[in-house]
Amino acid sequence: MQISSNVLDLPSFNFYKMTVLNTRKEVFNYISSAKNSNKTIGYVPTMGALHKGHASLIEQSVTANNITIVSVFVNPTQFDNASDLDKYPRTLDNDIDLIKQIDPSIVIFAPTAKELYQNNVASKKYSFDGLEHEMEGKHREGHFDGVGTVLDLFFSLIKPTNAYFGEKDFQQLQIVKKLVSKYKLGVNIIGCEIFREQSGLAMSSRNERLSPKGRKEAAFINKTLIEAKEQFNVKSAAKVEEWVTKEFAKNNNFNLEYVSIANIKTLKPLKRKSKKQQYRIFIAVFIDNIRLIDNIALN
Ligand code: AMP
Repeated sequence: MQISSNVLDLPSFNFYKMTVLNTRKEVFNYISSAKNSNKTIGYVPTMGALHKGHASLIEQSVTANNITIVSVFVNPTQFDNASDLDKYPRTLDNDIDLIKQIDPSIVIFAPTAKELYQNNVASKKYSFDGLEHEMEGKHREGHFDGVGTVLDLFFSLIKPTNAYFGEKDFQQLQIVKKLVSKYKLGVNIIGCEIFREQSGLAMSSRNERLSPKGRKEAAFINKTLIEAKEQFNVKSAAKVEEWVTKEFAKNNNFNLEYVSIANIKTLKPLKRKSKKQQYRIFIAVFIDNIRLIDNIALN
């Protein structure tokens, strides 16, 4: 069937075209009218190159809120490595298609860095009560200041009721909860389970950069974490970490950056087990020179 072009021109017929906002002003205008009509706003921050892991967060937001906004923005201030930032996949057209398939009424915010940061692309300094010094914080200089800065900006523009974050970046999730409570940002932070490929590999935009062989081998990461969980029932944290380190040393494809069994609240390495505390095992590992992270609950 042919649709006449003046039908396509009608503003109310925008179901075939996603709303993509590019400027702070556009977001301000959009949010002002949503807030006037008392609508709840769900917000999902992403760096694009969207996959089913992102889709699971977006679906939760759509189910629980009147409006869902997804930002697609590769945030320069959270990268400590220029080549990692350069190589980060940027696939906005595909991202728009994927979001449209979930629900075409979702609003996308895809600003440039200059626009979002108003020409001052720099991090503010934050204290997250020590959470920022563990694991990723030790290996990615300034990373969480960059994450705090960009979310502070997005939250103040979008004023979400609920914001959705994956447990894939568990340390980030805990830091965002701290950011919101400490700086009283008034957003509910909702943690979402890790979405995995059939092989167990945690879905990640970075997986696209793996060679087919690397992608197959990367299943070893989750497999090892699951075995570590079994061992954790009978061994100390130190012994389990030692075992994981040896497993990765045996396998030339990998370069293990860290493995840590930590308390989920403090993220500090576990010294002595307590039945009252919850622990997870966290890992960062290079394969094909691509850095992947994963974690699972231990109890
Ligand atoms: P990113 O685009 O990598 O910054 O991720 C955006 C959000 O999606 C973050 O809250 C991530 O934790 C979350 N996310 C990424 N991969 C997954 C996954 N495999 N399962 C669940 N959440 C994920």
